Amino acid sequence: MSLIESNAPRAIGRTFVDNPALMLRAVGVTKTFTLHGQGGVQIDALDGVSLDVERGECVVLVGPSGAGKSTLLRCLYGNYLASAGTIALRDDARADHGDTRHIAITGAQAHDVLYLRRSVVGYVSQFLRVIPRVTTLTLVAEPLVSRGVAETEARARAAALLARLNVPERLWSLAPATFSGGEQQRVNIARGLIAEHPVLLLDEPTASLDAENRDVVADLVIEARERGAAIVGIFHDEDTRAKVATRRLELRPPLRHTAAIH
Ligand code: ADP
Ligand code: MG
Repeated sequence: MSLIESNAPRAIGRTFVDNPALMLRAVGVTKTFTLHGQGGVQIDALDGVSLDVERGECVVLVGPSGAGKSTLLRCLYGNYLASAGTIALRDDARADHGDTRHIAITGAQAHDVLYLRRSVVGYVSQFLRVIPRVTTLTLVAEPLVSRGVAETEARARAAALLARLNVPERLWSLAPATFSGGEQQRVNIARGLIAEHPVLLLDEPTASLDAENRDVVADLVIEARERGAAIVGIFHDEDTRAKVATRRLELRPPLRHTAAIH
């Protein structure tokens, strides 16, 4: 039995092996930032957050600005290394992890992180990271191509998703650098959802969208949930939260913001 199960009180008898629906388990995730450029001030962003997410669930993170919602998603995606705690994702595919059926993303080797992002976990960040000169259609199709889907099929699926998200066809052959905030966000959503990852992390995907496109995104999230994805998301409007959430997790900003003593 690994550390992850033995640390989690409610996990007894319900490991990734025992519970085939379990997709993501975070146990005691803590994140402290040290601002080296500013006298070593420490900011506690997360203080011992635990979370299990099963197939078909959409856990909506709620809490005031600064509560650590985005930080938690970045830890779950392996962008930030948690200061303490463990995060594991289901992985049935790779035999070289033995019969534990999960990989810990905390402390994972770079190649395991890349593997998890290709095959297991998708992430829609708050803002699109634009790659110069790469066209919208190529950008959206890329996660499928990297999983071995033929280029023509990948591009057809990218086109269908962009159309559904009301991204005008005249923009598909352009790089999104010059697009409006809302257009970039929809390209970002298409890129994040196209590969139908079993686990999805969504950081305010509807923040810069109008009501009609918010509804399209809510429908896409519900469809992902219904095909069995395990989702953790932040949604800035209550309307969307109410549509997509199966459960809510409230985060509160930890109280200790301590100055370092020299
Ligand atoms: P939320 O998404 O709930 O608004 P965040 O996760 O963005 O909150 O931020 C939580 C806290 O962590 C805030 O106090 C924020 O300033 C701090 N924080 C987030 N990212 C960093 C970082 N890269 N470096 C230093 N502090 C950070
Ligand atoms: Mg945030």
